[in-house]
Amino acid sequence: MRYISTRGGIASISFKDAVMMGLASDGGLLLPEAYPEVTADQLESWRRLTYPELAFEVISLYVDDISAGDLKELINRSYESFSHPEVTPIVKKDGVYILELFHGVTLAFKDVALQFLGNLFEFILAERKQSLNIIGATSGDTGSAAIHGVRGKKGIAIFILHPLGKTSAVQALQMTSVTDSNVHNIALRGTFDDCQDMVKELFGDLDFKEKYSLGAVNSINWARVLAQVVYYFYAWLRVTDETDVPVHFSVPTGNFGDIFAGYVAKRMGLPIDKLLLATNENNILTRFINESDYSLGKVVSTVSPSMDIQIASNFERYLFHLFADDSDRLKEAFAELKERGRISCSPDEMALVRKDFCSVSVNQAETLQTIRDFHAETGYLLDPHTAVGVKAALDLLSPDSSRVCLATAHPAKFSETVERSLGVQVPLPESVKELYGKPTRCEIMDADICKVREFFIANIG
Ligand SMILES: *Cc1c(COP(=O)(O)O)cnc(C)c1O
Repeated sequence: MRYISTRGGIASISFKDAVMMGLASDGGLLLPEAYPEVTADQLESWRRLTYPELAFEVISLYVDDISAGDLKELINRSYESFSHPEVTPIVKKDGVYILELFHGVTLAFKDVALQFLGNLFEFILAERKQSLNIIGATSGDTGSAAIHGVRGKKGIAIFILHPLGKTSAVQALQMTSVTDSNVHNIALRGTFDDCQDMVKELFGDLDFKEKYSLGAVNSINWARVLAQVVYYFYAWLRVTDETDVPVHFSVPTGNFGDIFAGYVAKRMGLPIDKLLLATNENNILTRFINESDYSLGKVVSTVSPSMDIQIASNFERYLFHLFADDSDRLKEAFAELKERGRISCSPDEMALVRKDFCSVSVNQAETLQTIRDFHAETGYLLDPHTAVGVKAALDLLSPDSSRVCLATAHPAKFSETVERSLGVQVPLPESVKELYGKPTRCEIMDADICKVREFFIANIG
């Protein structure tokens, strides 16, 4: 399989090159040249596979430059770190299926992709005798999952900036309690935007980027999307073990990475009826789907902070397909966004969008109420992100269909909010309790690019 850029400015590249490139060098996002088709018979033949076996079948369709033996080993190692034997188990509560994606080390779905990406990086770097310095900004979930994905790995150092005191307590500890010598936490006296500005500045200095082999782990890496495609197949197979009514997926959405993986699964032939895109008050994507209105607003802070996003980076991948894979049309759309703060689509294009997606925005009061109601009715605790998707599914999808809600984080990760909503304490998993006694390492500094650069140069391997 070869990979191309949405902006049409690069010659096609291999899977391994796509992993190492991250963002395409023309500023676009990388995509496979075509989506492999999975037939109904092939799908049936996958029914009895374990999660890692299924992951190999799906991922290997996109990878032809790593041997089958090596790829299997990378995949097995990535999912051994999960605390549940099924990796992403599914439970049925109150007429909806909850797809639990939070059994990885940092208790959020990002582990599914970042454990795999960490192993892929290490494998490719060893083969090429290269090293990589990963720099990223986080509001909490991506940073912790990325750190755990690469801790102790050869040839890789990681520097993660987070806003001091502005993540949840568990998120901060999941980062700062990792004291491996290749992991560097920086807590900035500032906001998440300040952290992002620092990272952008370092990446914007092309000589610096080249000299120090900078790399990124944000959700634009194709390998992350690919790893997430697997659980749509896994969940579909589990649900259709029981019943054959239409299957919908409800996805709490921020950067459009998770739901784009669902779209890829659908393009490959997985019979998904609708992808329900659930947003919080940051609802630009809901406005787009329902009212053809893609116009930028201001970011609002909510109880589901990992979805507090206006510009969803992976949305470019979807727009490229919506525009019939026409890079010129895509570039026009982004020029319009830059000039006028919006993207316009034709009625025909919007009809295509609505064939695959439906959407609803769930406000914070509704989210907290959903956590309470769901707990009262089923005894099951939802984290605030998952609650957005569950509320959306209950409101929008027919109870006569199979409604699969992606549970993107464990409630203990956002225990402050869940406890505030319920008035009861969230039982903490052992891995979280242990965090509180561990030694931590973290550099606290002002949001000053000179200081950040100095720290980076002093600490690279
Ligand atoms: C990252 C994240 C999301 C949003 O996922 P996207 O792929 O950015 O759309 C939702 N919930 C949680 C808990 C997350 O960490």
